[in-house]
This record gives sequence, structure tokens and C-alpha cells, in this order.
Amino acid sequence: MSLDISTLYLVATLLAALLGGMLMYFGRKEGIPALDWWGYAYLLGATVVALWALASPALPDVAGLAINALGFVACGMVWNAARVFHGRAPNWPGLFVGPLAWIATIVSLPSDAIALRMTIGAGIVAIYAVLTAFELGSERRKSMQRRWPAMLVPLLHGGVLMLPILLADLLMTPEQSASGNIWMTIFAVELVLYAVGTVFVIFMLVSDRTVRAHKTAASLDPLTGLFNRRGFSEAAARMIEREANAGRPVSAMIFDIDYFKSVNDRFGHPAGDELLKLFATLVASSLRITDLSGRIGGEEFAALLPCTIEEAMIAAERVRESFENCGIVVDEEAIPTTVSIGVAGGPARTELEVLLAAADTALYQAKRGGRNRVIAATEEPLSLETCRRRLAAAASRGAAAERPSLMPSHPIGAGAIA
Ligand code: GH3
Ligand code: MG
Ligand code: MG
Repeated sequence: MSLDISTLYLVATLLAALLGGMLMYFGRKEGIPALDWWGYAYLLGATVVALWALASPALPDVAGLAINALGFVACGMVWNAARVFHGRAPNWPGLFVGPLAWIATIVSLPSDAIALRMTIGAGIVAIYAVLTAFELGSERRKSMQRRWPAMLVPLLHGGVLMLPILLADLLMTPEQSASGNIWMTIFAVELVLYAVGTVFVIFMLVSDRTVRAHKTAASLDPLTGLFNRRGFSEAAARMIEREANAGRPVSAMIFDIDYFKSVNDRFGHPAGDELLKLFATLVASSLRITDLSGRIGGEEFAALLPCTIEEAMIAAERVRESFENCGIVVDEEAIPTTVSIGVAGGPARTELEVLLAAADTALYQAKRGGRNRVIAATEEPLSLETCRRRLAAAASRGAAAERPSLMPSHPIGAGAIA
């Protein structure tokens, strides 16, 4: 089968232009600046290939040089797009080093040193391809296994371009011109595959990132930035498992801001929101980096600490005290800021639900005891199964008014708290 080179380059040009337009459209729509970079790189690449393949014999030397230099700019833009995608600044000097190196090569080498010129040109493209591959593969959060297509595509591109140089001895035969022709065909086909492969990789990376962003958003509370109940539960399950494997205890706390409703009533909902944000900051800054915290309800927060209940009590007291002393003033009126805290510990592998229920019981003791205090659960929490049986039994006895408790010795009625 013989392939017509001009047709192949025309297809490569049209495809690159189409993909470039598509990338820019999605970049604008989704607000991803890296796609703009990739899109412009494709459009510039398409223009360069079109001019080079279809018009270059008729162009003066200077114009040919400028077209080739623009081709290297397009390669540099692909690399910079990968940098921008990873939140890094574009490397402007790096973008122009390749084209300048090419201009210097053409100016300084005699016009009959075609092989050397080709070698340097292909080398520049290969260097940009390797830089792109390493940029795409460098996101540490992702395993290399998932990253390999992102690295393979540009590496193959660089490799194919370098092949005729690596095989120079074989090519420099009497059939040199015929082999040159074969390489032109291979380059055209490779260009098409590279253009399509890169867009596939780009969309794979963008989709990975979008999924990750949605997952994170679904786990966070937008007001405070802490984990929401779902995020807290997931992270807590991981911590419970890890600490149990290491034979270390964990302790849970529940914080409930005192008389929070009256803050809303007196100062307005926005002031209430500000207080919630402040409390969240205070919890996060009072606990260790290894501790987990989250907002599990309106003005209820929870934390899970990899430590004994005694140590957790000290941390809880630190939160209580700093909230009491935070000295918030709205309209020249001091807002009373106190919090009640229930703390519970349990044997290894105690489920979060069980720990929180025990901490909740202690919390209601703290409320009943006058608020603004830290109370520890006095008994080991029941297992989830036993607790469910008791709750079911209580429900069947019609004890709906009674607050469900995992701590059998502290059945505190909701009416006593309000
Ligand atoms: P207690 O000392 O017994 O805890 O009294 P309290 O007023 O804090 O308790 P209650 O559960 O009666 O009130 C909680 C209030 O929290 C009621 C609700 O309006 C308010 N709230 C829940 N979520 C938000 C929120 O996102 N922003 C604001 N500003 N208020 C909230
Ligand atoms: Mg509450
Ligand atoms: Mg409250």
C-alpha cells in the first residue's frame, strides 16, 4: 500500500486543528487554563505542519526558518500545558529555548549539514517530549500504574522522532532518499497518533481530577472547611483500622456549642455562621495534625484522636477553654461562647458509631450538669450489636421519648436537657 504524503499531512493538520479547537472549547467551558495551552499548541502545530508540508518549498529560507521555530514553540507549549495543569507557572524561558536553539543551529551550520540539522531539530522535539512526560508523570498522589499512559505517549513521540537518528548508519545507504520518504510517512502517521493519543491522555487526566474534586467536595462542609459527617466517618474508619493494627487506642469527642440558638436569635444567622467558622478553626488548631475533626450536624462537631481517653480529656479541655476565652464581640456586645464536650474511648476496633454514641451520652451529661464542661463516658461502650438489640427492645417498649443511648447506665431523657 502506498500512502500519499501530502494527504497524510493534510489529515494530520485538520485533525490537530479540530482537536485544538475542542481542547480550547472544553478549557473555556470547564475553566481549566491548561486546556487552553494545549488547544493553542495544537492550533499552532496544525498551522506549522500545514505551511511546512504544503507551502514550504515555495517559501523563502527566512520564512521556512520561522515556521520551524514556531513548531518548536508548539512543542514547548505542550510541555507548559502539562506544567499549568499541575498548578505550576508556565516556564517562559524554557518555551523559547528550543526555537532559539534551532535558529542558532540554522544560522551557524552550513546549509549542506542536513543530517546534523535534522538531528538537532529532532533532539529538541524529543527533549520537550521527555519534559512533558516527566511533568505528566510527576503527580505524586497518583500511582505510577495509573500514570503510565500519560508518560508513554510523549515518550513514544520523542522516541519515534529520534529513531532515524539512532538508526542513522542504516539509513545512510544508497537508498537514502527512499528511506527518507518512508520516514516522512512514518512521521505523518505518528503525528496523527500522537495528536489523538495526547488528547486521550489529557481527557483521562482531566476526568481523574474532576472525580477527585467531586469526591473531596462531597466529604467537606462548605461553611467550615472541616470534614462533613460522611467525610469524617470515612476518615475515622481508616484511622480506627490503622490504630487497631498498631495496637493503639482511639478516643472520640462530640462538641455542642451552648445556647447556639440564642446567638442566631440575638445576632442573626450570619453571626451564627461566623461563630461556627471560628469554632471550627479553633478545634482544628487546638488538636494535633494527626487528629481528625468534622462538623457532624448544625452546631455539633466531632473529633477522633489516636490516644487514650485521659489524653483526649486534656485536648477537649483545651478546646473548651480557648472557646470560652475567644472574646467575640458583635455590635459592641460580647457573645458568650461556651461549649459542652462529651469524650469516650473504647477497646481496639470499636466502631465510630459506638464511640460517638457513648461520647454523645457524656455530652448530654455535660449539658445537664450546667454546660461549658468536658465529661468523659464512664463505662466502656457496648458493641454495636448489643446496642442495636437494646435500642430495638427500648423502641418496642414504646420508649420513644427516651434518648437512645449506648451507655446503659446513663439513660438521659431528652426532656431533661432542653
Ligand atoms: P444547647 O446549649 O442545649 O446546645 O442549646 P442550643 O441552642 O445550642 O441547641 P439547639 O439544638 O436548640 O440549637 C441549635 C441551633 O443551631 C438551631 C439552629 O438554628 C442552629 N443552626 C444549625 N445549623 C446552623 C448553621 O449552619 N448556621 C447557623 N447560623 N445556625 C445553625
Ligand atoms: Mg445541638
Ligand atoms: Mg447547642
